[in-house]
Amino acid sequence: MNWTCEQTEARLSDYLDGLLHPAEQTSFDFHVNTCERCTPLVAGVSRVLGTLHTLAQVEPRPQLLD
Ligand SMILES: [Zn+2]
Repeated sequence: MNWTCEQTEARLSDYLDGLLHPAEQTSFDFHVNTCERCTPLVAGVSRVLGTLHTLAQVEPRPQLLD
């Protein structure tokens, strides 16, 4: 699979929620690790969301109710 920066941005929330399929996860990781644009993007968002998850732990996330 030829992953792109656009796919990284489009699937970033799924990645952070652990919703990517194994094949997508592999392509995502490979692209992010080799792309100088996506590496800081994913690292930055992961750090921000990690903080938010810690603060929002008490409430179920809206996506789970869909
Ligand atoms: Zn990229």
